[in-house]
Amino acid sequence: MINDYRYRLDNSRPRIKVTCPACGRSRKLVRYVNTQTGLFLADHVGKCDRIFKCGYHYTPSDYFRDHPWLNDITSHRPVSLHIINEQLSQPSFIERSWMVESMNRSQSSSLFRFLSSLWGNDETMRLFRLYNVGATSRMNDAAVFWQVDINGCIRTGKIMRYGNNGHRIKEDGLVNLMWAHRMKSMVDNPEDFNLVQCFFGEHLLSVCPDSKVLIVESEKSAVIASHYYPQYLWLASGGCCGCLNQTA
Ligand SMILES: [Zn+2]
Repeated sequence: MINDYRYRLDNSRPRIKVTCPACGRSRKLVRYVNTQTGLFLADHVGKCDRIFKCGYHYTPSDYFRDHPWLNDITSHRPVSLHIINEQLSQPSFIERSWMVESMNRSQSSSLFRFLSSLWGNDETMRLFRLYNVGATSRMNDAAVFWQVDINGCIRTGKIMRYGNNGHRIKEDGLVNLMWAHRMKSMVDNPEDFNLVQCFFGEHLLSVCPDSKVLIVESEKSAVIASHYYPQYLWLASGGCCGCLNQTA
């Protein structure tokens, strides 16, 4: 909570807003600024202007809860290295049955229908199985991009809605981005879930250790690239909230 006092929503003039990571609208996110240094905490820590249509609000408290090793020890009880190491080394996992269930219905997502209109059912199914792309009955059969680490453990699933044209739906006012580890149906205590994201497709590193690895931002791009350039192993960082930013 201390962090919420050290940081406040930017109210300088002119105020520079950035793209909201949830709804994707440019110049809508008001970021939190450190009241002592005047610096922004991170570009995804803020509140979206579209309070009703988007509702994204990621506070400094959320940020330091998700990134405990970044806690500013001058304003906190010192966190022992032991605890930091433990939190870094012990991510929470999601039970495999949830992924299996979503994989069984993967053909019901709009993204599947769109890609299979280009590639056919078999090839689309092959890639969805390879990358663990499922679907959920919630959010109008949104696609679920499971993050399975190199040991085969499931870190989380990124749930996103796509339209019939294969593009993400961001503008119709409904929830368009969810996380499996936040869903009470899948995780007993979402508050206690220690999310440590991995690359989308990371599990394939153990299958093809000799492949040349290329990293893109979006999960969908990794799947599509894998179809057109199968000689490479394509991974996705997941964009602004993904694994590349966790240590940055
Ligand atoms: Zn937004």
